[in-house]
Amino acid sequence: MTALPATTDRKLGLVIDLDTCVGCHACVINCKEWNTSNYGAPLSDMDAYGAKPVGTFLNRIHTYEAKQTGCNAQTVHFPKSCLHCEDAPCVTVCPTGASYKRVEDGIVLVNEDNCIGCGLCAWACPYGARELDQAEGVMKKCTLCVDRIYNENLPEEDQIPACVRTCPAGARHFGDFADPDSDVSRLSRERGGLELMAEQGTRPVNRYLPPRPKADIEAAPTRDNLSPFLEPTVEKAGGFIGWLDKALERL
Ligand code: SF4
Ligand code: SF4
Ligand code: SF4
Repeated sequence: MTALPATTDRKLGLVIDLDTCVGCHACVINCKEWNTSNYGAPLSDMDAYGAKPVGTFLNRIHTYEAKQTGCNAQTVHFPKSCLHCEDAPCVTVCPTGASYKRVEDGIVLVNEDNCIGCGLCAWACPYGARELDQAEGVMKKCTLCVDRIYNENLPEEDQIPACVRTCPAGARHFGDFADPDSDVSRLSRERGGLELMAEQGTRPVNRYLPPRPKADIEAAPTRDNLSPFLEPTVEKAGGFIGWLDKALERL
């Protein structure tokens, strides 16, 4: 079994805004693209163009219809990646020490050289945030793009996670939750950032901003916004044409 650090110097993580996410999957694609093509360990695809394609992803979007009392049903897109928990059961369950949490920034990683692919960590994670790469026989998970955020070979604006960099809706934010003045801490405070499945006791670092409830159309007073614009309009012609109109009306 593997030990967790008592505390970490920083708590790097993501704020994911469920009110803004439009479920476009751009973060999924850029995560896959970065990890498949660039500095990270490749994420395998098998039978990619065949009848039963399967692949390893570090980030997935699940889409639900949700209904709160007194509100209309609404579509909620839920991006799911590792939440870099402070009490990460995926680390403590690991028999080889392959899974670990970094003291310096709190990122939870897998040392693939030590991973035997037993799958215990995926079983222990209550969020389903780990995927066994069937082609490589090792466990994969979100690295918080550790190979981008400290990478001085990249332009400064790219030294953030690929998913955050690409989100066209600005629904993903990256930063240090140990700093109460960071953007992510402030956003989470102001928008009621949620700790996912708090009852599991994993103390996730990532926070989800809840979607605003949609108003109940049934209860709202009936109002037709369009009809005033559909009224027939009578434009009085001016000048010679106006005089002619009046003259013709008198005939
Ligand atoms: Fe581990 Fe799952 Fe928490 Fe990530 S979300 S640290 S994989 S328990
Ligand atoms: Fe550890 Fe790898 Fe087993 Fe997960 S699959 S518990 S990382 S040895
Ligand atoms: Fe993927 Fe990086 Fe985003 Fe994690 S932080 S979901 S590895 S793009």
